[in-house]
Amino acid sequence: MLENSGRTELSTLGEFGLIDHLSKSIQLHQPSTIKGIGDDAAVIDAENKYQLISTDIFVEGTHFDLSYTPLMHLGYKSIVTNISDIVAMNGKATHVLVSIALSNRFSLEAVEDLYKGMITACNLYGVDLIGGDTSSSQKGLIINVTCYGEVAKDKVCYRSGCKPGDLVVVSGDLGAAYLGLHILEREKRIYLEKPDFQPDLEGNDYLIQRQLRPEARIDIIKMLDEIGVTPTSMMDISDGLSSELHHIAKQSNVGFTIYEDKLPMDPIAYQRAIDLGIDPTVAMLNGGEDYELLFTVPIAEYDKIKKEMEITIIGHAVEAGEGLHLISKSDIKHKLTAQGWSHV
Ligand code: ADP
Ligand code: MG
Repeated sequence: MLENSGRTELSTLGEFGLIDHLSKSIQLHQPSTIKGIGDDAAVIDAENKYQLISTDIFVEGTHFDLSYTPLMHLGYKSIVTNISDIVAMNGKATHVLVSIALSNRFSLEAVEDLYKGMITACNLYGVDLIGGDTSSSQKGLIINVTCYGEVAKDKVCYRSGCKPGDLVVVSGDLGAAYLGLHILEREKRIYLEKPDFQPDLEGNDYLIQRQLRPEARIDIIKMLDEIGVTPTSMMDISDGLSSELHHIAKQSNVGFTIYEDKLPMDPIAYQRAIDLGIDPTVAMLNGGEDYELLFTVPIAEYDKIKKEMEITIIGHAVEAGEGLHLISKSDIKHKLTAQGWSHV
């Protein structure tokens, strides 16, 4: 448990290894805690419904780069990505708390821009900003958003309910946010070398918008509710499809077979990936930050979902012992690792 002496480098555990390690020593005391660590949001029994709570931290230099991220967009994204965690539980976001730590590099006008973005997102998603905390920081900007939401007890979706045979479904398209980041990073490098250079972002609007101004897919959970489908498992795609599939596989004790030719990519994104020398499949599997939904549904629901344009069936769940695989366009079976794919 928490009894290590000496010194263990955190890099030997990684982010998820560290969370797993810490969570082993945490005891729950409240009977109302239905789900603690381990999903997109914690789940608390609130008598006639479940309350959902999720929090995320955004650190300058780690999660965002202000040389190409307008503060208004950053504010918007910090709220929306938290709402997305509530949506991933099949819930509706209701309230947010926002804490910020600022260095003296930031002016009142800068903080106002940040909050304009946050307030725009709150207004659009009908979420109330109800408090937070403000502090100084030695260096840079740190934002922490905690989002509250609610869901009917029989509608909550965990990462753990998928069964072999279930269909694997994603909303929207994948990989565009990663390509947007790649383009912004490339323009920054050129700018640093030649400061009089005018950035060339022409034709990349969609990709850059996907990176800087993502949306939470409330429309998808509304649609699923309307057609009477409750996913057996669900999460949002923040770290990349491969990584998220591994989370569901681990928590549901299943494997997955995914088909490369089914993976959805926007045609412009596909072409840009080729132009940039990036494998479009790698962008879709590893890219992350698309904030689309990944979910599974029983095969018996196929008729209900097959006509929905905003979602794509990309594969199916198998027994855990079969592992996770990607069947390539040329019909070759590749092992799907958390970071992408490799030859079996
Ligand atoms: P997401 O990508 O959806 O934000 P994370 O990978 O950050 O999810 O977190 C996975 C789970 O681990 C969540 O249940 C989260 O609340 C929990 N978690 C993350 N960091 C910590 C921490 N420092 N202490 C306790 N729980 C944590
Ligand atoms: Mg997190």
